[in-house]
Formats: sequence, C-alpha cells, structure tokens
Amino acid sequence: MLINGRVELACQKLVRDFKTGNNFVIEPLPLFTVLKDLVVDLEPFFEKYRQVRPYLIAGQEPPESERLQDPEKQRLIDPALRCILCAACTASCPISRVNPDYLGPAALLRAFRYVFDSRDEATDSRLGQLDTEDGAWGCKTMWSCTEVCPKQIPVTKCIGRIKRALKAGQTAR
Ligand code: SF4
Repeated sequence: MLINGRVELACQKLVRDFKTGNNFVIEPLPLFTVLKDLVVDLEPFFEKYRQVRPYLIAGQEPPESERLQDPEKQRLIDPALRCILCAACTASCPISRVNPDYLGPAALLRAFRYVFDSRDEATDSRLGQLDTEDGAWGCKTMWSCTEVCPKQIPVTKCIGRIKRALKAGQTAR
C-alpha cells in the first residue's frame, strides 16, 4: 500500500521504521482499481504475469535424471527468484501509469528469470514477445521499481539484461 506517499510492503513495516511519529497517511496501492478500503483489484497485474508464460518450457521428453541448470545462469537469475509478486514495483512504475498495455516490471522480471534459464527452450519466442514498446523497450530506466522492491531485487538491471539480449539478437540478425 501507499504509506506517506511511498509504496511499501505494509506487512514488513513497523511504526518505528518511519520518522513521522504517529502521523501516517495510508492509501491503497496506486495504479489499480480500488475494490474497498485498502483492497485493490490485482487481476490486471496477474494477467500481465500470465502473458509472459511464467513457467519452464523444456523439451517434450524428460531426461533420465533432473534437468541441470548452468551454475552461472543460476547465479544470474537468483535475485529474481526472491520475487513475492507484491506488485509494489509495478504500482510505482511511471510507465505503467501512462501505458496500460506495458507489461510492467514484475512481469518483465519473471520473463528475465526464464530467458536466462539454461534449461528453458523458448528463449527466442520469449525475446520476440518482449521486443516491443509494451515489453522490455517500454522500460525507460527510471529505477522506481528497484527503489521500492521490498526484496532488494535489482529489477531495472534485470530488465536491462533483457534489452541487451534483444540488442545482441538484432546485431546477429
Ligand atoms: S520485483 Fe520486488 S516489488 Fe516487484 S513484485 Fe517482485 S518483490 Fe514485489
């Protein structure tokens, strides 16, 4: 929710974390439709999340043993695995506020997690989906998502990695 004008994960905050004494202005999460009091409709948020296919797309035939991940790729995507889908990043994103079709930082972060997973076999198709102004190029590197993320995920940098992968693909073409 919005506490004193800043998006915060309320369940992780204590009154003493704020320097405002007992003066608080508590409002619903911005961007989303208010259903009642502080409750907002997060369905549009999860719809964007579903659009990026938030699951591993691997070969049809399972291997004899587990599918092994490249350790370097695992280190790269590890921070993204901390995401709890709280929607704070998307709610604070200036682009999401002006472009309702923009995927938004949380969905892009989930896409990043699979684009750079060495076991995933839909990389080209995922990057193709993200290569638009409503996808990765919608991000104008304003850092709001990174500033508010309660899990300290470098969201903006992760989106930047997607852009670099797209650029590299364009150069290869
Ligand atoms: S990236 Fe951070 S702010 Fe965004 S949904 Fe995940 S945990 Fe919340």
